[in-house]
Amino acid sequence: MLKPSPVTPDKVKRHNLARVLRYLHEDGELSRSDLVFLTGLNRSTIGALVSDLAEAGLVEEVSGVGGSRGRPSLVVRTNSSRNFVLAFDLGVDRIVAAAVGLGGEVLATIHRPRKDGPYPVKEAIAAILESTDELFTSLPTGATWAGVGIAIPGVVETELGFIRKAPNLGWIDVPFGQMITESFRKQIGVCPKVVLGNDANFGAVAEYVRGAATAASSVVYLTGDVGVGGGVVLGGEVLTGSSGFAGELGHLVVNPAGQPCNCGSRGCWETEVGRDAILSAAGFLPGPDSFPDFLAASIADPAAMKLALAGVGGWVGVGLVNLMNSIDPHYIVLGGHLAEIYPYINEVVIKRIDQSRPNAHTRARISLPSLSLDSPLAGAAEAAFAPLLSDPLHEMDQAFVLI
Ligand SMILES: [Zn+2]
Repeated sequence: MLKPSPVTPDKVKRHNLARVLRYLHEDGELSRSDLVFLTGLNRSTIGALVSDLAEAGLVEEVSGVGGSRGRPSLVVRTNSSRNFVLAFDLGVDRIVAAAVGLGGEVLATIHRPRKDGPYPVKEAIAAILESTDELFTSLPTGATWAGVGIAIPGVVETELGFIRKAPNLGWIDVPFGQMITESFRKQIGVCPKVVLGNDANFGAVAEYVRGAATAASSVVYLTGDVGVGGGVVLGGEVLTGSSGFAGELGHLVVNPAGQPCNCGSRGCWETEVGRDAILSAAGFLPGPDSFPDFLAASIADPAAMKLALAGVGGWVGVGLVNLMNSIDPHYIVLGGHLAEIYPYINEVVIKRIDQSRPNAHTRARISLPSLSLDSPLAGAAEAAFAPLLSDPLHEMDQAFVLI
């Protein structure tokens, strides 16, 4: 026979420390009164919790502005530069790395372009290790390294740190979490927790937590890269499906008479609105090297680009209509190249939505990313912070300090 373990004062305290730290991480600086209001805890409890978090080096109290009757007031804020995670976004044509402080402050970033095509796993690990060395040099001695988050353009079993498939990287069944942990230990002797996730899922979470969709409970985030990926947050939870394949929105069939897709189907959404489809429509050669020229041409002659991309805009609209009808999210955030072409296709997209949903009572708000980092990278940082935000003092005991 089993029964739940009893709720002890220690468990309650750990839970409340986590709540306070999460509010400060997601909402920014807050007064003790704000924390009393948000948590429903009394003032002396909040005082004790803030003291514990400050003693652990996670938060600090500083003079704020706007105190009552002109008096300076104290506000509590995260100690961003002293507590950080490393976030990585592995793309087909680049790896982007960032050190992100508690509270979401971006402390340093690195962008490494690479040649399009299959990405040998060893090369990806080497790039992560090199980026880590570089990021460390820009961080202060004594800073605490709390975790690692890695965004992958593929199907990821997050719990196991296992990549089932990442077709555009050329990866199938890669125990990447274990491999990167061992590599960190070999190279620098230590490694905090590593969390892997699908890049679009991470993007959706980042937009939900601190981006365009913070006021909503449901958001679809679309990555626009060589292909199109999707992440869905519903009621605050990432939609994973029965086997982790939910969100393969780039493979919604929108045009059964269309081009073959690398998934084996035909006329998938990404064959109509992926990077190479856009380049072809605009008269450029497919491939990453053409994209900067395409963007420059768009800026030079927006009217011509609107004409050239009208067909692509129509297909973007068809896919968005399907998402609105099937998911009914509050927001759909267009990331990557979809964000870059949106100024040239928005009129066509809206027209298509109006035509296809004339009697709809609701319409998702179409938005562009509003974060200072790429959304998947910001989401990787959020995932890396998750253990610290769940049990702050315990995780601080496990964390590593830069010397
Ligand atoms: Zn497909």
